[in-house]
Amino acid sequence: MPSSMSAPGTPDDFTHRPDGAVPADGVHGLKERLEATIQALVEKDMEVIEAYTLLNLMLVGGRPRSQALLGKLQSGELIAPVDLDLEPIRDYLTDRQLRKLSRVLVRYRELREDFASFVGKIVRTGKVAKGQHRRISGEVMDFLEFTEEVKAETWDLFAATDTLTGLMNRSAQARIFEEECRKARRRGNPFCLALIDADNFKAINDNHGHDAGDMVLVAIANRLDESIRAFDHIFRHGGEEILLLLPRVTRRDADRMMERLRKCIADTPVRLPDGTEITATVSIGYSLLGDEPDITIDTALQTVDEALYQSKEAGRNRCTFRRHRR
Ligand code: GH3
Ligand code: MG
Ligand code: MG
Repeated sequence: MPSSMSAPGTPDDFTHRPDGAVPADGVHGLKERLEATIQALVEKDMEVIEAYTLLNLMLVGGRPRSQALLGKLQSGELIAPVDLDLEPIRDYLTDRQLRKLSRVLVRYRELREDFASFVGKIVRTGKVAKGQHRRISGEVMDFLEFTEEVKAETWDLFAATDTLTGLMNRSAQARIFEEECRKARRRGNPFCLALIDADNFKAINDNHGHDAGDMVLVAIANRLDESIRAFDHIFRHGGEEILLLLPRVTRRDADRMMERLRKCIADTPVRLPDGTEITATVSIGYSLLGDEPDITIDTALQTVDEALYQSKEAGRNRCTFRRHRR
């Protein structure tokens, strides 16, 4: 079944990394970027709470007690402008999460302005407008609730992301599988589940070192990720195995897609920073399923794992379809 090897295309270029090395926590530095984002939000939360608490303390009895503190609040010393660049983490967040984070930043800016204008008025008039105080209180509560939500979602995303490849890890598989089963039943069309395993990967590690193995794995993950549709799901299943769930496909589509994926790995070697080119191949086992009433991710995985085993047995670098039996 495997086609003969065609002429190699352009190898992946890892040379843009100055030291050519894979950072210890993954090629994308994903962990650090997400942590920095969350940390920035946590700090903003604390600043807002602190400023708000101080303001309220000063206003006990309806009168500002400390002009110096009011001055600090007004000048923005107590709530510093946020300095959060969303660009570096853009690729790792869903569009929805990105929109939410942008909204948090906008709200934070509004909140700072309102704080400043509120405090400015107190300083000018020596009085506290109750209505404005209520509005600020509402805004503070909203902001804290909102950042709480964003933080929780960002942590969830972080927990579900494999830090080497940037793909989703195994933890999200069961939930997505069940969601897609529901959709498949409702629409009456199945999805393709495909288990992809890098061939002779131990030998790649043995011959070129573990860091090189990591880079090959990342290149495989990137190529597969770039070759699928926006609504397809891709997971690092574990080790050198990747799982795909491709909704709304016919058998013909699935056959074509699998062959295309196999070729996109086999046809182009991975180029390491030192110029070494490594040709990797993958074996694929796939099935069409999802609309059966009692299917579980475990039985589905069993089916594609058997298909994968057949691909290995038959010589690797090939795709095997297997019908799912209940
Ligand atoms: P096969 O074609 O039968 O799949 O052979 P294989 O060598 O790929 O399979 P085997 O299960 O014997 O070995 C898998 C290897 O993949 C061993 C393991 O160290 C390596 N591996 C798993 N995860 C990673 C990783 O994250 N980085 C690197 N560099 N190697 C990994
Ligand atoms: Mg394996
Ligand atoms: Mg393998």
